Amino acid sequence: MFKKILIANRGEIAIRIIRACKELNIATVAVHSTADEHSLHVRFADEAVCIGPPQSDKSYLNIPAIISAAEITDADAIHPGYGFLAENAEFAEVCEKCRIRFLGPKPDHIRQMGHKSAARELAKKSGVPTIPGSESMVHTLEEAVSVAEGVGYPLMLKAAAGGGGRGMRVIRSAEDMGKMFEVVRSEAGAAFGDPSVYIEKYIENPKHVEVQIMADAHGTVLSLGERDCSIQRRHQKLVEETPCPVLPEAARRAMSECAVTLASAIGYESLGTVEFLFDQTTGAYYFIEMNTRIQVEHTVTEAITTLDLVKEQIRIAAGEKLRFKQEDIKFFGHSIECRVNAEDPFTFIPCPGEITGLNIPGGPGVRVDTALYVESTVQPYYESLVAKLIVHGIDRREAMAKMTRALSEFHIAGIKTTIPLLVEVMASPEFRSGKYHTGSMDKLLAER
Ligand code: ADP
Ligand code: ADP
Ligand code: MG
Repeated sequence: MFKKILIANRGEIAIRIIRACKELNIATVAVHSTADEHSLHVRFADEAVCIGPPQSDKSYLNIPAIISAAEITDADAIHPGYGFLAENAEFAEVCEKCRIRFLGPKPDHIRQMGHKSAARELAKKSGVPTIPGSESMVHTLEEAVSVAEGVGYPLMLKAAAGGGGRGMRVIRSAEDMGKMFEVVRSEAGAAFGDPSVYIEKYIENPKHVEVQIMADAHGTVLSLGERDCSIQRRHQKLVEETPCPVLPEAARRAMSECAVTLASAIGYESLGTVEFLFDQTTGAYYFIEMNTRIQVEHTVTEAITTLDLVKEQIRIAAGEKLRFKQEDIKFFGHSIECRVNAEDPFTFIPCPGEITGLNIPGGPGVRVDTALYVESTVQPYYESLVAKLIVHGIDRREAMAKMTRALSEFHIAGIKTTIPLLVEVMASPEFRSGKYHTGSMDKLLAER
């Protein structure tokens, strides 16, 4: 087992990882920008190293500074968390070269799945259903228009290197395509360093259903069930739950099998998430992408399986065999997560600032993952997620009641947060019915 792990991240996920390390008796090293000097993750870790100025590209994305910090502190592994360098194959490679274990999959797995168009081809080859669209990348407008004629509008033009809900555009006509093709390409080039795009049919009002998998270095691949992440704004998740309230048992089993097949096909190792769109009217499901890292919403899976996914991820990287078989994975009750963002709940403008008061909800079945404390500062340089509120109930009805109750207890003073919006989601008939889809949030916002 590792002796010391460096956490190349900040905020709630850095704290989440430090907690897992402590329980495994592994020493921890925090890295931080100058802006994060007083952050909770710095206080929670055994050691801390400043790696640069506030801007991410100079600190949390600064590979030489992070590797130096690991070498100075003699860390034998690095956990990248999510975002930042978590899906950067070069970073994973540099770690390997420096004999520091990267706590994630092999660089090749990151590369294979990080290119979304290549991942789609791989899924198709493995017999996993994909959305009708281009065979591979489309390089010219002429090619895009001709693919679009075959597939039919509306469709989606997606950046192969995209992520975080960015780099995709709905295209409704050939005229639209003419206007947007080069725009999407140049945006993708600027944001992800790769202008490649591909085409998928636009699925109207699907559910986003994803399968959590866990694979060790000895060939065991397990499915830990699905999560419904259809409450989204601008293709970014706001609320997640498990199990998906409307998924028929046969589809649930088939999607799990697809996820395991795909991971097995590449000899995948570590945690991973295989994302699908599920069409509630036809019952069809389609692969969209695989995320090769721990996800924000891993917590709901932890609640209903009683597993600690971060500890499992560390054990897998240390070469240990999974201690369970598929039939040992049992699901208990229902779990919901709400993401609390430091944003105005009406305009969604980020709202950094100092926390002047804080009341964290509690009680049975309530978990809060956050780096907030009174007098801490929410920085303007990073993403606006400041807390995750997770509840676990005996069934969906109890989980919703718990979430509503816990949200009413949650007070964060000094900044604006999206808590009022989350309260509205919990009260909305569409959410309560379980039949909500990726368009439901926009509808709710339009009706306000
Ligand atoms: P997902 O939305 O796929 O579930 P998460 O919500 O777990 O993923 O995303 C983790 C964080 O990583 C998010 O804050 C997201 O903005 C960021 N992220 C994911 N992919 C990328 C990427 N390719 N480039 C930059 N940031 C990313
Ligand atoms: P990212 O890498 O940014 O997470 P994804 O490919 O996972 O991008 O898509 C994010 C979200 O965008 C999905 O959850 C879904 O809401 C929407 N989306 C993506 N592809 C399609 C599609 N072909 N049709 C309809 N919605 C889509
Ligand atoms: Mg995604």
